[in-house]
Order: sequence, then structure tokens, then C-alpha cells
Amino acid sequence: MSQHFDLIAIGGGSGGLAIAEKAAQFGKRVAIVEGAKLGGTCVNAGCVPKKVMWYGAHLADAVKDAPDFGVHASGGGLDWKKLVEGRNRYVANINDYWDGYADRLGITRIHGFARFVDARTIAVGDQHYGADHIVIATGGRPIVPRMPGHELGITSDGFFALEEQPKRVAIIGGGYIGVELAGVLRSFGTEVTTVALEDRVLWQFDPLISETLKENMEAEGIQVHLEFEVAGLEREASGITMLASDGQRLSGFDQVIWAVGRAPNTRDLDLEAAGVEVERNGIIPTDAYQCTNVEGIYALGDITGRDPLTPVAIAAGRRLAERLFNGKPDSKLDYENIPTVVFAHPPIGKVGLTESEARERYGDTLTVYETSFTPMRYALNAHGAKTAMKLVCTGPEERVMGIHLIGDGVDEMLQGFAVALKMGATKADLDNTVAIHPCSAEELVTMKEPARRPGQGA
Ligand SMILES: Cc1cc2nc3c(=O)[nH]c(=O)nc-3n(C[C@H](O)[C@H](O)[C@H](O)COP(=O)(O)OP(=O)(O)OC[C@H]3O[C@@H](n4cnc5c(N)ncnc54)[C@H](O)[C@@H]3O)c2cc1C
Repeated sequence: MSQHFDLIAIGGGSGGLAIAEKAAQFGKRVAIVEGAKLGGTCVNAGCVPKKVMWYGAHLADAVKDAPDFGVHASGGGLDWKKLVEGRNRYVANINDYWDGYADRLGITRIHGFARFVDARTIAVGDQHYGADHIVIATGGRPIVPRMPGHELGITSDGFFALEEQPKRVAIIGGGYIGVELAGVLRSFGTEVTTVALEDRVLWQFDPLISETLKENMEAEGIQVHLEFEVAGLEREASGITMLASDGQRLSGFDQVIWAVGRAPNTRDLDLEAAGVEVERNGIIPTDAYQCTNVEGIYALGDITGRDPLTPVAIAAGRRLAERLFNGKPDSKLDYENIPTVVFAHPPIGKVGLTESEARERYGDTLTVYETSFTPMRYALNAHGAKTAMKLVCTGPEERVMGIHLIGDGVDEMLQGFAVALKMGATKADLDNTVAIHPCSAEELVTMKEPARRPGQGA
């Protein structure tokens, strides 16, 4: 006979753990199925190891800048092995924490990969398990496009498995993962070339951010090739060569990293056995309450194709648990105005609408404020990464609809401003807030002359 639960979460990543934790706290019988380590992409091959590398790179940058401030710092190079060992230890501690915490909460751990048998039953190996509610939170995996020599490249997963610092790296993709890995490697002294299919890096971001980012990347010595369509990879005596569809060749790389997006992990779930609808690209469509088309089966996190970020998966999971098990029938995640940070060098943050999105929605009612400067952090350095900021406001009351930032410290700056935007702050509210001086953030409450007023297009 199969074991029966109130809830089974398929996937022990950000989303699966969040709903399992809450449901268990509400006294429910809960199981998590996970074929790898608890924590999912974020802990094992995403946010956490990435941010450790980012901090290391940040320190390497500081060492380079220190002598201009009279601070003696020796740029003695990088002990990659030590950094990676420390990072892996940190990740392993988080895995251990989750193992212990799940046990303490009384969550049943089922090791393996799940597939559906019917709408109320899953199988892991030859064991069957039933539940009143089944949550699919299986996340995604990096895409490697099939083309000649594709196997010569690694992905972000391969990046985290590197045992030595690569010397010359090509990164294929100008999205956030590509940009972040490029920044880390460059700060550590690797020669980096970034190629992107689009005509700008971070093409979904406001153009002010993309342009400033490209400027900063190039100032750091990263080669950026836009509108570059990779057609294949070849191994040559000098290393790996990238071939473009227009005949361009870039050669001599010891690593090529594919950072061209992620595909949802739906393929092996046997969703048809449960009748769960899935889109051609593998995404599971859900309504505002994370419900799939089958009653009692839900999906959350990256698998739903909406805002693929850890806090989004966690928030959706917690709210679903509140709705299913804590008598809050209206509990659901509001997907509007989700802030996001890209840990580039320097970082990038955005919340709300880009200028063109706001124009599409609100027409010519926009007032746009922009500023661009070299922050005081580089006061004594000959060069310093540029900071740029944009506020997109609408209507006569100048309600803030979008905040776009690039520069040192914006990763920490954005969270509070995101609260203000979500609460409906206007430009006057920002102006009424006394600035903190001297810091970059004060620019956000002191911008005076608009770059564009209502009636003036971009
Ligand atoms: C390089 C990189 C950097 C990132 N940086 C950030 C960041 O800075 N900030 C941020 O917010 N987000 C970041 N993300 C995104 C973040 O990691 C994801 O949005 C988040 O992990 C999604 O959570 P999830 O629960 O949907 O899936 P995941 O965390 O991917 O968890 C899914 C789990 O399901 C398991 N699984 C898959 N199929 C099955 C099956 N059939 N049965 C059982 N288990 C299964 C997998 O093994 C995995 O553990 C980053 C991602 C990457 C790749």
C-alpha cells in the first residue's frame, strides 16, 4: 500500500522547501521528494555559491584600488582552490541545516526523482506515494543549444565545478547569469569575452542600465560582442574557437560558458499521467493561486516561468501553504513590482516598469529623472565604475513606477526603495525625505530637473 500525505512537494529547492516548511508548521503530514541535495539551485548552483564568488571578486577589486588611498595591499593573486573549498563548505553547511531542520519539522524525506502515476499518486523508483495536494517545484536546468561542438562548453553548473581558475573565458549570453560570471572572472584577472545575440546586454532592463553596464564591463577590460550568433564551437591547438553565423571566429579560450537561459524540469515528470497541462517550452501554466489545470496539483517557482528568483518561489510557496492549510483562502503572491538585483561589478537593481514599459501602459504622461556619476568610492582612483539611476514617474502626482540603478551599493539600496514604490510613493515623497550624506543613495531623493517631461518622448 502507498504512503499517504496531506502534501507532497516534488523538488527540495526554494519553492518546495518553503511550502513544506509552512505546511509542517501547520501540523500537516508532509513529504519532500528530492533527487539531489536539499536547497535546490539557489543553494547548490545559484545564488549562494555565486554570491560567495562575487564577494571574493569584490575584495579583489578593493585590493586593486587600495594603493591609491595609501593603503598597502598586496595583489598577490588568487588561491582559487581555497576560495572554492571555502565556498563548498559554506554550501554544505546550508545543506546540513536543511537536512536537520526538515527532520525536526517531521517532514518525510523521499530520495529520488518523482513521476506522476495519476492525479493523486507519484512514484519514486518502484515506491508509490499519495497526497491530497501535490506541489510541483522542480525548477530548471541550464540550456545547451544543440550545434556542432556544443559539448566543448560548460554551463553555470560547470563553472561552480571548476577546480582551477580559467585564464581565457568566453561567455555566451548577455543575460544576468552571463553578466555575473563575466564580472567575477574579470575581477579575478581572467581574460573575458562576452557574446550576446541581442543588441545590448541585459536586454530586458532599461537601456540606461544596459548601456552603463556595457561601458563598465568594457572599462574593466571585458570584450563585449553584441549581435553575435554562435553557430558552433571547435577545438583548436590554441584552445576553443567560437564560430558565428556571419563567419566571425573568436579563438583561444580555455573555457566557454553557455549562459543562454534555463529550461524547466518537466520532461521526466510524466505529467500526462496526471493530466497536467504543460506548454511546449516545458513551463507549467498556473493561475494566480499557483493552481494547475488539475485540482489538487499546484506548481511554483521557476517551473511556472514567472520571475525566476528564489524569494519569488519562497513567497509563492508560503502563501500557498497559508491558503491550503491555514484558512486564508485569498492568500496568493502579488507578482507586480518584484525587485531584482544582478550581481554584476558594480551591481544592478530594478523594480517596477522600464521607461518603455511605462510608456506603453501610461502613454505620454511620464516624467523621467536620470543621473549618472562616478561615486565617491573612487575619489582617489584614476578610474571607477560609473553609477547611473533612473526614476520613471507617471501622472501629475508623479507616482514612481520604476526605479533602475547600477553602481556600487545599489544591491543593498534597492530593497527599501522597493517598499516605497510598492506603497505608492511619489516623487514628492522622495523629495520630502532628507538625504543621507555622503553616499550614492542620496541621489535618489535629490534629483531635480527631469530628463523628460510629459509629452516629451524618450
Ligand atoms: C547561476 C545562478 C545564479 C542565480 N542567482 C540568483 C540570485 O542571486 N537571486 C535569486 O533570487 N535567484 C537566483 N537564481 C535563481 C534561483 O536559483 C531560482 O529562481 C530558484 O532556485 C528557483 O527555485 P525553485 O524551487 O523553483 O527550483 P530549484 O531551486 O531549482 O529546485 C528544484 C529542485 O527540484 C529537484 N527536482 C527536479 N526534478 C525533480 C523530480 N522529478 N523529482 C524530485 N526532485 C526534482 C532538483 O534537483 C532541484 O533541487 C540563480 C540561478 C542560477 C542558475
